[in-house]
Amino acid sequence: MKLILKSGLSSDTVYTIDDLDDWPVEGTSLAVLGHPVKHSLSPPMHNAAIAELATTDKQFSAWTYYKFDIPPDRLEEALAKFHKTGFRGLNLTVPHKVLATELVTIGENEVELSGACNTLLYTASGYEGYNTDLYGMTQAIETDFSIRLKDKEVILLGAGGAARAAAIACSKAGVQRLTLANRTLSKLDTIATSLNRLEQRPTVKTCQLPGELPFTCDDLLVINATSLGLRPEDPAPADLSQLPSSTLVFDMIYNPARTALLKQGEALGMPVSNGIGMLVFQGERSLRIWSRKDPSPHEMLKAVRAAMNSI
Ligand code: NDP
Repeated sequence: MKLILKSGLSSDTVYTIDDLDDWPVEGTSLAVLGHPVKHSLSPPMHNAAIAELATTDKQFSAWTYYKFDIPPDRLEEALAKFHKTGFRGLNLTVPHKVLATELVTIGENEVELSGACNTLLYTASGYEGYNTDLYGMTQAIETDFSIRLKDKEVILLGAGGAARAAAIACSKAGVQRLTLANRTLSKLDTIATSLNRLEQRPTVKTCQLPGELPFTCDDLLVINATSLGLRPEDPAPADLSQLPSSTLVFDMIYNPARTALLKQGEALGMPVSNGIGMLVFQGERSLRIWSRKDPSPHEMLKAVRAAMNSI
């Protein structure tokens, strides 16, 4: 959905920090900040949910979600400007999620545990940071596969920000056995350390990719939180052929919609799902934090699918 506003602003345009100098004061503004951010699906997704909220509560007809390209060395300056301009909420995507934790007050424990935040809420004294990726992943997996995460033994591929959030989410959901797998083995230490700070934590094993994936039972879930798969020609980060055919395979990547990992899972008869649901559910929780209402994940999913078809 492309919104052209009276002020001449558009939810489709990529804005920069300089555009904040004469940002109009009317209405309520939200935005995603990234670098690059051109292909973000967050503006159409949020604006669709906001339009739906506006059908029952008129205040939301003055809300619009924009996108801003902000280089990391200008994030601090940008956040001060967004605050001065009165942006009610911000989402942070690559490469800002970790850096932002130093620049905001911590809104919830998940930010400290994951070392990252993707959602900022305006308060009079500055922005407050939340991490809705944990909720997004848990909800997506439980909805897509109709399961409870806690009932699964999990093999988690990756050791970056998304993997760290996923490991915390698995632990919080009550997963009993977790295998952490990554190309660079030493990077798994940070995740193991943050899990050690939790009261409820799984038994953790580590292993190096590519290599054989260890498992102890048939109730397996593989989560890909590596970025291998983002390019259509990328190989799978791990070989699934030694795992039981009942293994569920969840890839956080949603574009391309079918990575090599998901294709292999499908060929082996495994139930598979990509990261669209995670994108939608993390967005749903962000909008709930800003609006204090329950936005419709269904409207958000419809908008994401439509936007993906038009890329
Ligand atoms: P990071 O850059 O922090 O981490 C990248 C990870 O991928 C590391 O574990 C890295 O391994 C691994 N990796 C990269 N290249 C290769 C390769 N050639 N072979 C094997 N492993 C490789 O990324 P993030 O954690 O921020 O994001 C990871 C993925 O999750 C991305 O694809 C992102 O799009 C997706 N994501 C999806 C979301 C959603 O809403 N659906 C939300 C958040 C993230 P090493 O340590 O060895 O370098």
